Amino acid sequence: MKVAFVDRDGTINKDYQDNTWRYISEPELIEGSVEALKAISQKGYQIIIVTNQYLINEGIIRLLQYKKFTEKLLLELNDNGIKILDIFYCPHSRDENCNCHKPKTGLIDMSLKKYPHVDLDKSFIVGDSISDVELGNKIDVMTFGINVESGLLKYTKVESLSDIIKYL
Ligand SMILES: [Mg+2]
Ligand SMILES: [Zn+2]
Repeated sequence: MKVAFVDRDGTINKDYQDNTWRYISEPELIEGSVEALKAISQKGYQIIIVTNQYLINEGIIRLLQYKKFTEKLLLELNDNGIKILDIFYCPHSRDENCNCHKPKTGLIDMSLKKYPHVDLDKSFIVGDSISDVELGNKIDVMTFGINVESGLLKYTKVESLSDIIKYL
């Protein structure tokens, strides 16, 4: 199966300054992201969300807050006919040195363990941070960086999630 590994904050829903996340309980979808996810699944990709959530272990948001936000996001996407196969998140703080904080590969390793039939050659990753692009390069999949600037990494620069459809 081919998979779209999609970052969450700043890619599907709006992102905020770390401290602002304290007050956020409702996902605010980025314009065009619903249509984009629909188009991605219509092209035969299963969608797996991979997201760094260091704010959990850094004490800025509670785990329950993350879970409720996620539930609402999934409901809203589901209401729009979009099925998300799974979500893998890293709750660890940035100084915990875990192996799942992107660009480390732990979240992808978990995906491959749970879904051994993922064909990485046909899959891709998309996100709005340099860490998403670095991760994509590490696991050697097609990589899209939303407004990411780097001269060293191998990726296609796009302006939004919907901007990638023409490349699939
Ligand atoms: Mg992001
Ligand atoms: Zn982690």
